[in-house]
Amino acid sequence: MNRSHHLRVCLLLVCFGHLTVAIAASRLNVIATTPDIAAITRVVGGDQVDVTALARPTEDVHFVDPKPSFIVKLNRADVLIEGGAELESAWLGSLLEGARNPKLALGAPGRIRCNVGIAMREVPLQADRSQGDIHAAGNPHFLIAPTNARQVAHNIGQGLAQLLPDQRTAIEQRVGQFQAQLDAKLKEWKATLAPFAGQPVVAYHNSWPYFGAEFGLQFDLFLEPKPGIPPSSAHLAGLITAMRERKVQVIFQDPYVSRKAAETVAQNTGAKIVPVSQFPGGVKGTEGGYIELLDYLVSALAKAFSTQP
Ligand SMILES: [Zn+2]
Repeated sequence: MNRSHHLRVCLLLVCFGHLTVAIAASRLNVIATTPDIAAITRVVGGDQVDVTALARPTEDVHFVDPKPSFIVKLNRADVLIEGGAELESAWLGSLLEGARNPKLALGAPGRIRCNVGIAMREVPLQADRSQGDIHAAGNPHFLIAPTNARQVAHNIGQGLAQLLPDQRTAIEQRVGQFQAQLDAKLKEWKATLAPFAGQPVVAYHNSWPYFGAEFGLQFDLFLEPKPGIPPSSAHLAGLITAMRERKVQVIFQDPYVSRKAAETVAQNTGAKIVPVSQFPGGVKGTEGGYIELLDYLVSALAKAFSTQP
């Protein structure tokens, strides 16, 4: 009796062991460079993916701290999903070198680029580093426009389906659902912001041209004088003059920069500071995902425009 009991336990363990292996094998271990990519990948990948973002939503995505733990994560990953337009170029390359993971090599199926099929803005004719940290592939902050998020969901879906061919139908269904949800929301968001068409908005960094084009807002005045250069008092004085002339009502404040420059400018112009982020979770209440983030941005903007003196 003792013996048969022992046998039963063994059989059970074997079965359980097989089951565990089977489940683990069908889930892809995905690393996304940024939290917006991670959020869309979770929607598109569903139960088939475990997703980790490297950049935190509150940090400056250009200058992510390349922690040694990231090398371990990249070494163990099946898939790396990146923007593809050099947003991560200051920190991703050395991490990948350290990770030595052939699955994530350029051109491998495990390396998915989000900017495929995106109409890139501000592509320089010649990369001229004297103009600050110029992005040679064009402005890399494309994912904050819903039309581009639509394309990115498609790109991620195609990349994952190539790795999980038996899941292609389910993945494409989830892409379609997300796109339908985005299309419906985009109509709402555009209607909410329509009364403010043509309004200028001041941002710290030139990271909003795609968002501006989508919603008819102008983002051409910045707190930083050049990409990566902190604001000087001479630059802020010029900015204040320009803001008064153009009657700018709103200043975007990213979580990773000090509020000081925005506050100085706000005090001198009467413009309102709106806390923003391009990443779900970068501002409280936007942790839910991409659509929640856009919901927040659109309603915070509309509120700031309509409560001016
Ligand atoms: Zn940038």
